[in-house]
Amino acid sequence: MVYQLIYYSRNTVDGSDREMLTNLREILAKSQHNNSRDGITGYLIFDKTWFIQILEGDRDAVTTTYQRIATDPRHSSASILNTRDVKDRLFPNWTMAGALRTPEMQEVYLEHGIGGAIDPTRLTSDQVVRLALDLHQFEQNKRLRHAS
Ligand code: FAD
Repeated sequence: MVYQLIYYSRNTVDGSDREMLTNLREILAKSQHNNSRDGITGYLIFDKTWFIQILEGDRDAVTTTYQRIATDPRHSSASILNTRDVKDRLFPNWTMAGALRTPEMQEVYLEHGIGGAIDPTRLTSDQVVRLALDLHQFEQNKRLRHAS
């Protein structure tokens, strides 16, 4: 079994879109480094207001990582949406995938009934999982289109 933890938090970093992107890249680079060491995979949904993250792996490793993340000053008020044991990882090949919300992704958000600002306090963990999988697929398809 794999332990899965989903939380959301408030982004406390102000700045332009470019600064947001730099912030995301820094967080993802550090996450990928640490998570590959700790056997953790997952996905980070990110906009100017919120982070929503799925962490999956060994229970102790996920718990330790979440405790470290929760004290990071780049966000606040981290709230766990759900923890559960699942059979398989959702993102087995991704030590941490993630995407900043951009206008081109709007169609994916709309398919999930999110036309305006996302409000993670009103989302269920299953809705987060479905959104993350579709955002990830969208990004993968975009990469394939650019590569061909
Ligand atoms: P170092 O990188 O050496 O950092 C030492 C301390 O400085 C830490 O307390 C760190 O929080 C703080 N720090 C580092 N850079 C900055 C900065 N630019 N601004 C402010 N404080 C800073 N880490 C993971 O390992 N896995 C994850 O999946 C993961 N997801 C994250 C998701 C979000 C939304 C955020 C905000 C952070 C995430 N992090 C993740 C980063 C995590 O919070 C810690 O910063 C990181 O794990 C610390 O790594 P380290 O022990 O190598 O310490």
